[in-house]
Amino acid sequence: MLSVVVPLYNEEGNVAPLFERIDNILRRLPGAPHYEIVIVNDGSTDRTAEHVRDEMRRRSGVVLVNLSRNFGHQLAATAGIDTAEGEAVILMDGDLQDPPELIEEFVAKWREGYDVVYAVRRSRKGESVFKVLTASIFYRMVRRMTKVDIPVDAGDFRLMSRRVVDALRRSPERHRFLRGMVSWVGYRQIGVPYDRDERHSGASKYPITKMLHFAIDGITSFSDAPLRMASYLGFCSSAIAFVYGLYVIVSKLLNVNPLGYTPGWASTIVAVLFLGGVQLIGIGILGEYLGRIYDEVKGRPIYLVSEIERS
Ligand code: UDP
Ligand code: MG
Repeated sequence: MLSVVVPLYNEEGNVAPLFERIDNILRRLPGAPHYEIVIVNDGSTDRTAEHVRDEMRRRSGVVLVNLSRNFGHQLAATAGIDTAEGEAVILMDGDLQDPPELIEEFVAKWREGYDVVYAVRRSRKGESVFKVLTASIFYRMVRRMTKVDIPVDAGDFRLMSRRVVDALRRSPERHRFLRGMVSWVGYRQIGVPYDRDERHSGASKYPITKMLHFAIDGITSFSDAPLRMASYLGFCSSAIAFVYGLYVIVSKLLNVNPLGYTPGWASTIVAVLFLGGVQLIGIGILGEYLGRIYDEVKGRPIYLVSEIERS
């Protein structure tokens, strides 16, 4: 059995075409495998759940997982992956930016023996220059900063085998960067290129602030490079301060003033501003990690299900 997991947050306009396209492609698959569609309703405030129930009245094999509130895309996806029972689990967005037709290739590769088949974005339609550019920089930054081999330009649209899903289920971290976690799992992984479509209906649920949080989560959960950068910054500024200190002491002792400024003022301001900046950056980076440790030790459940409906 295959499971198709789709997190939905206010996607009422996309439900019907989503089901239609998933059904179309899965019915055509060689061997006609059994499949379930696991929809996670991530606290939608529109008619998303009603639309899914309409589909459920017409067909079987749909699981609707209602979360107790909006938990965000990564946790909603996690809830779906935890609920899915298939031998392979396919995760995709519900706005039809990820064409369901690619599932055919996913399944073919999985049958060849791959554990993870991820979709690599060859092009992105209907997204702002800003989003495409920042995403592209982000993927390359993450890749350079982490020891895990996270593929560039791949989102969460992917197929995972049962053992990969089980590995994810054993990873209870709450600031989840799923695509990184899947890469970390290992086994045999392969990418297939695709062209990312425009959103079918509605607007993106990822405003800049969420994108930024997601990016920071991605980096901090897979890399301690920022902490090291803070130390380097500290070392550099200490070295500069040391050289400058020598200069100040020597010129004081010799009673000379080769740079010719009013003694005291400029140097004090520059040193205070520079060191203040360096310290704040250092504290900020520490704080990012500290906040995450705090979230982890509280040990709260990472999402809460209000009810699961099946057809
Ligand atoms: N999503 C979700 N919870 C959220 C935000 C988004 O379940 O808090 C879902 C959304 O409904 C969609 C997928 O995650 O199915 C990807 O979101 P979106 O298309 O807004 O992201 P983008 O493609 O703009 O990066
Ligand atoms: Mg989208």
